[in-house]
Amino acid sequence: MSNETSVQKNLEEVRARIREASDKAGRNDRDVTLIAVSKTKPVSMLMEAYEAGMRDFGENKVQEILDKYDRMPSDVKWHMIGHLQTNKVKYIIDKVCMIHSVDSYKLAEVISREAVKHNVIMPILIEVNVAGEETKFGTGREGTEELVRQISLLPGIKIEGLMTIAPYVEDPEENRQYFVDLRQLSVDIARKNIDNVSMGLLSMGMTNDYEVAVTEGATHVRVGTGIFGARDYQV
Ligand SMILES: *Cc1c(COP(=O)(O)O)cnc(C)c1O
Repeated sequence: MSNETSVQKNLEEVRARIREASDKAGRNDRDVTLIAVSKTKPVSMLMEAYEAGMRDFGENKVQEILDKYDRMPSDVKWHMIGHLQTNKVKYIIDKVCMIHSVDSYKLAEVISREAVKHNVIMPILIEVNVAGEETKFGTGREGTEELVRQISLLPGIKIEGLMTIAPYVEDPEENRQYFVDLRQLSVDIARKNIDNVSMGLLSMGMTNDYEVAVTEGATHVRVGTGIFGARDYQV
C-alpha cells in the first residue's frame, strides 16, 4: 500500500499496538473499540481514517460534531467525549451513539428528557475523576455509585459503564493504578445489580497510555494525537 497516508499508517500502528496489548493481557482485540479522536482536525483527515475502516470518531465540542456530521458518511458513529453543557444536549441527542462524559444528575436529566422527546435510548458512561484532579470534570469515586443509582431511574437513558481521563504523565505506567481503580469501581457497582445499569464498558486510555489501559480492561480507547498527529489550537 504505497499511497497510504500518514493517518492510515498511524492507524495501522495503533491497531497493532492494541492487538499486542490485548494478547499480553489474554484479551481479544475485538473487545477493544478504537475511537479516533478527531477534534480540531479537518474532514479530509477523518476521511483518510474512514477509508482505512474507522467508523468510531470522538469529538468534544457540540458545534464540531454538527459541522462534521453533515460532511461525513452516515455510518460514522459519533462519540461525545467532552464536557457537555445542558443547553446543548438537544443538538446532538439524535446524532451521537454514546455520551462518555456524564458527571452530574442535572446533565443526565436533560439527556433523559431530550432522549424521550426523540424516542431514543441514549447509552451513556459516567465520567469518574479517578485521580481526583481539581482541574478535571467527572464525579468523585465515592459519589459514583449514588449517582449511578439516581440516573438509573431516568427514562430514555442507559448507563453502560464508566469513563475516565487519566492525568497527563510522561510514563504511562504511572496511570496503571487509575485504570485498575476504575475497573474495580465498575466491578463493585456491577455487583449491586442495579436495574437498568450495565457496567460492561470502560472508556479509558488515550495516545499516551492506551496500551496500559487495554491491559487493564479498557473496552474503548480514545486516541487522537496517535492517529492524526499533534493538534494546533492556534487556528
Ligand atoms: C482529546 C481527548 C482525547 C485524545 O487525546 P490524545 O492524547 O490526543 O490521544 C481522549 N479523550 C478525551 C476526553 C479528549 O478530550
